[in-house]
Amino acid sequence: MSYKIVRAACTLLAALMMSVPVHAQEGARPMIIAHRGASGYLPEHTLEAKAMAYAMGADYIEQDVVLTRDDVPIVVHDIILDTVTNVTEVFPDRARPDGHFYAIDFTLAEIKRLKVHERIDPQTGQPAFPERFLLETVVDFRIPTLEEEIVMILGLNRSTGRAVGIYPELKEPAFHQREGKDIGPIVLELLARYGYARREDSVFVQCFDPDYLRYLRETLGTDLKLIQLISSSQATLVTPQGLDVVAEYADGIGPSLGLVLSFDGQGQPHYTGLIEQAHARGLVVHAYTARADALPANAQSFEHLLEAVFGGAGLDAVFTDHPDRAAAFLRARE
Ligand code: CA
Repeated sequence: MSYKIVRAACTLLAALMMSVPVHAQEGARPMIIAHRGASGYLPEHTLEAKAMAYAMGADYIEQDVVLTRDDVPIVVHDIILDTVTNVTEVFPDRARPDGHFYAIDFTLAEIKRLKVHERIDPQTGQPAFPERFLLETVVDFRIPTLEEEIVMILGLNRSTGRAVGIYPELKEPAFHQREGKDIGPIVLELLARYGYARREDSVFVQCFDPDYLRYLRETLGTDLKLIQLISSSQATLVTPQGLDVVAEYADGIGPSLGLVLSFDGQGQPHYTGLIEQAHARGLVVHAYTARADALPANAQSFEHLLEAVFGGAGLDAVFTDHPDRAAAFLRARE
């Protein structure tokens, strides 16, 4: 083949790759999103858990993002700190009247003094997942900034030659607004600084708040792929009319698994039809959360669950605490 032909083929290939639509492609391999990192194995949202998820073959790695008092986006699941850190020991007098310690009341320097441990149930103080990592704070796990995590993933992309994406969730934007902060512009600016600004970049921005996602698209004018998260209590979003509206501003939906399927007493999956309805509107479906140690009722095993969501339902991606087992499952299917 001549150089010219090769070059023309490469140009065509590049053009095709640029124009690949976000929505599900027939036969495309589903993607694995590491939910809070490899959180089934190490304390959630630590850089250690993210590096482990990367090495386990995740396609995307999730970041839950909240702001500090000094407006730094940090990666932590809750707007409160008491579920995953030793904040009650380090800053015993900094709780609000409701007894919780809010990240937004602490500067980054203060938050960096906290050690992260395995998630606890704040009511009982017991581990949320009894089989997971230790509760002790002997190991020096810390809350990362979003910037630290992005740079780590970009560094790993360079050193491994892979192209793992990021998947930030803006946590409770209405709470941030009541506290006088707008989380969206701060996060979008940081993403843009690290090269995440165009539709084809390897990032999905997710949020439960439909008004805020629309604001990101229409007022802030972001081009990034947007995912409307949908909990089981947001039933109006999964009606045909609700999905029509979501398709106006989002690229996909992130429903809880229970909105996609359930298993009967014999372990047979029953599908709600949500995935077909979303696909018919050009929306991808990335459902949460597949956990090997917290299966849906009547699912016989983690792999049984994955077979149902990827095989039967045609899910485009799954958030999972166990990216190694999801990756092994998809490899075995190929
Ligand atoms: Ca999340």
